[in-house]
Amino acid sequence: MFILKGIEQLTNAIAKAKKVRPRVEFDHFGRYRVSGSKGGFYTVICKKSDNGYKTVACTCKGAEKGLVCFHAAAALSLHVGLARRQQTT
Ligand SMILES: [Zn+2]
Repeated sequence: MFILKGIEQLTNAIAKAKKVRPRVEFDHFGRYRVSGSKGGFYTVICKKSDNGYKTVACTCKGAEKGLVCFHAAAALSLHVGLARRQQTT
């Protein structure tokens, strides 16, 4: 899990997501399934923490170590668009 403090954290992960082009499936608001580069799906959970930051958790190995993975970047691009529409997070 990592805390999203700025878009610059995502630069590398977004570049990778653009290369891999994972499938992002909408589960419900804040919860997404993203296909891995070697198949399978990872679950990405985006939520707003008490201090106002977004926290992003992914079930892949990289995210367990606190890395910003491309699954998270891919899910976030969908999440941010939805959040903007909902005006909630
Ligand atoms: Zn991941």
